[in-house]
Amino acid sequence: MRRISIFGATGSVGANGVDLIRRGGGADAYDVVALTGGRNIARLAQMARDLRAEIAVTAHPELLDDLRDALSGSGVRAAAGEAALIEAAAMPADWMLSAIVGSAGLAPGLTALAQGAVLALANKESLVCAGGLLRRTGRDSGATILPVDSEHSALFQALAGEKLDSVRDVTITASGGAFRDWPLERLAAATVAEASTHPNWAMGQRITIDSASMFNKAMEVIEAKEFFGLAPDRINVLVHPESIIHAIVNHIDGGSIAHMGAPDMRHAIGFALHWPERRALPVPPLDLARAASLTFRAPDETRWPALRLAREVMAAGGAAGAVFNAAKEQALDDFIAGRIRFTDMSPRVETTLSALSGEAGFGDDPDTLQAVLEWDALARQKAAA
Ligand code: NAD
Ligand code: MG
Repeated sequence: MRRISIFGATGSVGANGVDLIRRGGGADAYDVVALTGGRNIARLAQMARDLRAEIAVTAHPELLDDLRDALSGSGVRAAAGEAALIEAAAMPADWMLSAIVGSAGLAPGLTALAQGAVLALANKESLVCAGGLLRRTGRDSGATILPVDSEHSALFQALAGEKLDSVRDVTITASGGAFRDWPLERLAAATVAEASTHPNWAMGQRITIDSASMFNKAMEVIEAKEFFGLAPDRINVLVHPESIIHAIVNHIDGGSIAHMGAPDMRHAIGFALHWPERRALPVPPLDLARAASLTFRAPDETRWPALRLAREVMAAGGAAGAVFNAAKEQALDDFIAGRIRFTDMSPRVETTLSALSGEAGFGDDPDTLQAVLEWDALARQKAAA
């Protein structure tokens, strides 16, 4: 039986992963090693019982007793805290879904990769803050990284069997998020609740707000560069409000291959779960007659300055990705807590990048986990409101 682990199992992507495992036969079909979560102990314990996991880990040490209680009599081991997450990631597994949100997902993902597991990567922050380190770790252990982000899964599928030399450029689409059609002057007053709604995708709160600010797409451009080794000027963003086309590969001969599908993450998660095969998935079939029309527009960098910042981060290289991601996470924390306005996030990230760009070593690719985490901590400190 395939040994699988899901990190961030209680989140939006993680729970979809658990759902697919359940529908695929659960504990009778998969050997579930580790499931991890945060504060939702009841949900984590229920998942671990259902799938007869070896271990369940909460990120929060103060919740260990609650988790133990919730698992009593189940035979599932309980553990808590950062070190326990890494120990769980080091337990031999064939496939690991990395679905923790934020740079907190980096260390467990790296650990799983180092022991040779196929890493199904939803945690785009890892690639943004440590793309080189992840690639090298995977190469050294012979492990594979598969994209779970829908646009990158789409590119991966559209690129299958093609040579990168024949690719002129690629396009990833963006719905435009909650404020796509808002007058610009209203953005400064946008509330957390308003930013936390998405027109097409049901996702965790942080990525939903990042969709409204386009920090999500900015990170995805960097993710595409890291994942596919494409030069930044060969990665385009296109606003596509219907979220039916997820990505397009444009070839040098004028042909373009687009990947389409209903906006349902179970496609990308299931694709990575069954790769290199395809299996039936509980995803609604595409109904283009019902969609009726697909529309597109160029992204406006006045509305979404994060897209310009992503280009600057890629041009700078070195520690810029780690700083960009951490400054964004801090700015998002501050927006959610009501300390800054929606429109303060991008300037704060930009100021942090320019403040730290003069630090020694900024131009060097951080090649250890510790180096990445040091830049991460420094950037959060600088960006804090
Ligand atoms: P979510 O907030 O719904 O879930 C996050 C999970 O991570 C939860 O299980 C939570 O307990 C855990 N977690 C949070 N902070 C943690 C910490 N410090 N240490 C350990 N665990 C922690 O998030 P999500 O929307 O499922 O997104 C997860 C990842 O997938 C993100 O990197 C996101 O960018 C990416 N992603 C999500 C979607 C989506 O549809 N939701 C699509 C593409 C990519
Ligand atoms: Mg995406």
